[in-house]
Amino acid sequence: MKIHEFHSRNIFRKYGLPVPNDVLCHSVEEVEKAMAKFDDMVVVKAQVLVGGRGKAGGVKLAKNKEEAVSAARKILGMDIKGLTVEKVLVTEAVDIEKEFYVGLINDRNTKTVTLMASAEGGVEIEEVAKETPELIHKLPIDPLIGLLDFQAREVAMKLFGNVKLARKAAVIMQKLYQLFVETDSTIAEINPLVLTPDHKIWAIDGKMNFDDNALYRQAEIEAMREADEDELKEIDAHEKGLSYVKLDGNIGCMVNGAGLAMATMDMIKLYGGEPANFLDIGGSSNPQKVVDAMNILISDKNVNAVMINIFGGITRCDDVARGLIKALDIIKSDIPIVVRLSGTNAEEGLALLKETGLPTVETMSEAAKKAIELSQGQKS
Ligand code: GDP
Ligand code: MN
Repeated sequence: MKIHEFHSRNIFRKYGLPVPNDVLCHSVEEVEKAMAKFDDMVVVKAQVLVGGRGKAGGVKLAKNKEEAVSAARKILGMDIKGLTVEKVLVTEAVDIEKEFYVGLINDRNTKTVTLMASAEGGVEIEEVAKETPELIHKLPIDPLIGLLDFQAREVAMKLFGNVKLARKAAVIMQKLYQLFVETDSTIAEINPLVLTPDHKIWAIDGKMNFDDNALYRQAEIEAMREADEDELKEIDAHEKGLSYVKLDGNIGCMVNGAGLAMATMDMIKLYGGEPANFLDIGGSSNPQKVVDAMNILISDKNVNAVMINIFGGITRCDDVARGLIKALDIIKSDIPIVVRLSGTNAEEGLALLKETGLPTVETMSEAAKKAIELSQGQKS
């Protein structure tokens, strides 16, 4: 789960990180009113759940009330990477001498939380990682010992090259680690962490993601949820007993079992296609699930072919076939479908499907190839 910058800043503050004062505003009028609290430069910042707001024109410096109001007028309602800006954060501006990057992530290679730090802050860290990976310092953290003073200082020293500043920055890194662990975070980033000309350090942007599976014990974080359209769909699917994760491709997949779902996505990739989703309809024999799954798949505008891959064990293929026939009856869609049924009651299922005229195939690889072919036939 993602949260807005203003929420991240509040968490940072709670853990004692240096974050400039700010006020969240939902309208130009609120910005005008909020300006009574500031007597110097401010920054008006779009609050949307994507990075790169600065580049998109969603972060503007303002010297006074007039400028802040005019910035808010431009930013509110603005579209940033497909998201409409509905609120802005007005914050005290700081003088920047240099911008740094400090972040914590779950590193799957080392299987640890890893501290990443770079003197190349402000820009998107993914770009730094791609172009000049040697400029990112990485430190895997032992979960039993945590981030020790000397380790944090060593990393901080590489950034600041000055003992006094490195000590300050090291404490910030350690607090970031503490909040990362205590909030079941998967990403906690300060980008940029800035140094001012008078040698103060400020965290002026915050990005945090959280482990969805831990939210049950993070009520405060859960309350910060602002689900986007894709997340709402995933939650809705979950309530219907389906595991659904939207991806960016164009081939919708309906599969039973998480392992088979992963294998199906791999197979599509292998033959040069792009899966539109992960979708596990689970192990039960409930035709309604197929109807729900089909609805979810075709509500994704990118989907232009569907691959149904069922290996019947507890799931009975004839039930899936019945569900599919019912679904096709209810949902009027001309998106082409290919079906592969195998295992328990596959013959009965295939016999039922014959009447629908849907193409059926024997193997998974045939199904993947056919789905890709169908998806390309759809392109005009
Ligand atoms: P992002 O583009 O979504 O990552 O948004 P940020 O909050 O990181 O802001 C983008 C950039 O705006 C920063 O990297 C800074 O260069 C600049 N910026 C943000 N806040 C301030 C500020 O208080 N003072 C100054 N001088 N620049 C700022
Ligand atoms: Mn940033």
